[in-house]
Amino acid sequence: MTKKYKRTSVVQASISTDKAHKAVIAPIYLSSTFEIDGLEKHLPYEYSRTCNPTRDDLANAITQIEGGIGSCVTSSGMAALTLIIHLLDHGDLIVAPYDCYGRSYRMLCALAEKKHFKLKFIDQYDEKEVERLFRDHSPKMVLIESPSNPVMRIADIKMIARHAKTKGAITVCDNTFLSPILQNPLELGADIVFHSTTKFLNGHSDVVGGCVTTNNQDILTTLEFWANSLGLIGAPFDSYMTLRGMRTLELRVRRAQENAEKIAQMLLEHPKIDNVYYPGLPCHKGHEIATRQQRGYGSMLSFEIKADKSKLSAFVDELKIFRLAQSLGGTESLINHPATMTHVSMGKAARAKAGVSDQLFRLSVGIEHIDDLTLDLNNALNVV
Ligand code: PLP
Repeated sequence: MTKKYKRTSVVQASISTDKAHKAVIAPIYLSSTFEIDGLEKHLPYEYSRTCNPTRDDLANAITQIEGGIGSCVTSSGMAALTLIIHLLDHGDLIVAPYDCYGRSYRMLCALAEKKHFKLKFIDQYDEKEVERLFRDHSPKMVLIESPSNPVMRIADIKMIARHAKTKGAITVCDNTFLSPILQNPLELGADIVFHSTTKFLNGHSDVVGGCVTTNNQDILTTLEFWANSLGLIGAPFDSYMTLRGMRTLELRVRRAQENAEKIAQMLLEHPKIDNVYYPGLPCHKGHEIATRQQRGYGSMLSFEIKADKSKLSAFVDELKIFRLAQSLGGTESLINHPATMTHVSMGKAARAKAGVSDQLFRLSVGIEHIDDLTLDLNNALNVV
């Protein structure tokens, strides 16, 4: 499918590509190896760590919808980040947001401690700090996560990429929270966009996966080399499932977003809620940038409950539809307590700096009926 049909490409991903039997849905290729025609007669597919048709179908679908030139599908979002940091040489500086996803934070710190690279955390929401960074340092790579997890800060991707280009740094954006339906970082100047496809792209909470997409041929060649050399690849079955999920990506994202907008407004007006972090609210600090660089505000939000710790468990126990679980982006609504779950490994001081209080809850709003979702939250808030 040509670039012209970018939006439809995800619905039609790998449809009617089967040459053998003209199956409308492309078959899954589980084979680890492929027969070669003869000595030195090589074919595109020979061994599935290097290349696999089903994984390629998924990579092509994500490449199209992100507007890149190629993608590497990995076994998880963390594997995607692992692959990306193999673009760094020993001693290179990588810059990351101080409030990035807790496990990304943990991995970067642990590898920096082992001297794989130099690491600096900055406040990417402050243009002056970004300017200072590029004036005083020459990073090889800048990592952006926007909206940030869990308080939905919005980084100005264009602004950061512009500064990065002045020093030849590679701009990398984690687009997990919005999906390519709502934001395309490559169009905003990033060189690489990556996803935990575990989340919105698969969308059914039954696959762990990741993907890295770029619009730069040199970067793509290096990523492909490391993906193959390190075995940082996604399995064919997982790729098939993710492709299946992706065909309804736009429908899911739009419906969940509609629900999230209503829930954010309801929480904003609720007397037991202190702060609501949703970029779609005009009072959100990043609202103006989000409106400029996104095509919607998504279905992730967080809020603080005005209550001491003892009441928080009662609130969670009372919920019937929102499930207390890690992860996000599935059809079902989930609630997460970052301080004791996703962000526990950050440590108390880093959590405090990132705005992750003990009272903070994060919602991944699903596609259930809005009346049931608001009823569930209201019922549970009654016990606080
Ligand atoms: N990036 C973000 C923003 C995430 O929320 C997550 C997981 O929650 C990841 C990366 C890591 O993805 P995975 O769990 O698929 O390894």
